[in-house]
Amino acid sequence: MKRGLLIVISGPSGVGKGTVLKQLFSQYDHFFYSISATTRAPREGEVHGKDYYFISTREFESHIENGDMLEYACYNGCYYGTPRQAVEKKLDEGLDVILEIEVQGAAHVKQAMPDCLSVFIAPPSFEELSRRLTQRGTETEEKVNSRLQIALEELKRQNEYDTVIVNHTPRQASDELYAVITQAKKSL
Ligand code: 5GP
Repeated sequence: MKRGLLIVISGPSGVGKGTVLKQLFSQYDHFFYSISATTRAPREGEVHGKDYYFISTREFESHIENGDMLEYACYNGCYYGTPRQAVEKKLDEGLDVILEIEVQGAAHVKQAMPDCLSVFIAPPSFEELSRRLTQRGTETEEKVNSRLQIALEELKRQNEYDTVIVNHTPRQASDELYAVITQAKKSL
């Protein structure tokens, strides 16, 4: 059986990666979304096993030692990582797998698996990113500011990706993403 395509979606916090993917999944149901593990505390409404696997630092570090993480990164003081087993299994089954991860992790995946499709979701402007992150209301002002500081560095790395999509609206970005995926699958 033909192996699935690994699709890495990255971009700064608040850019709307999750909303773009929600739009994509509402139209197409044949993707496998990899659920990450994190040591960050759950936000209100987030569910263990659906949004993330919320685990302790000790557990996370033992997964790293055992080689269970396909990639991981420390972001804003917390660990985030992709459990390896589910991703490998789904790719072997021929499913296209989507990782929604930050830039350090995305760089590791691209290095380890150069055949993956890497997509950077960019904001229309830095001001707009700041507005979206503030309006989302999930973070304290201090956390918003540190995420924006990180975003400045992340935005500098967009040329490392196969494709950059500017997220003006979830529908437009999702349509562009689907077109890029379709194209990448043709050249597999
Ligand atoms: P948040 O705390 O807003 O849910 O996520 C913070 C950042 O971590 C986002 O850019 C998100 O895409 C990224 N992230 C989520 N899961 C993973 C993961 O498994 N690995 C890496 N490297 N980053 C992740």
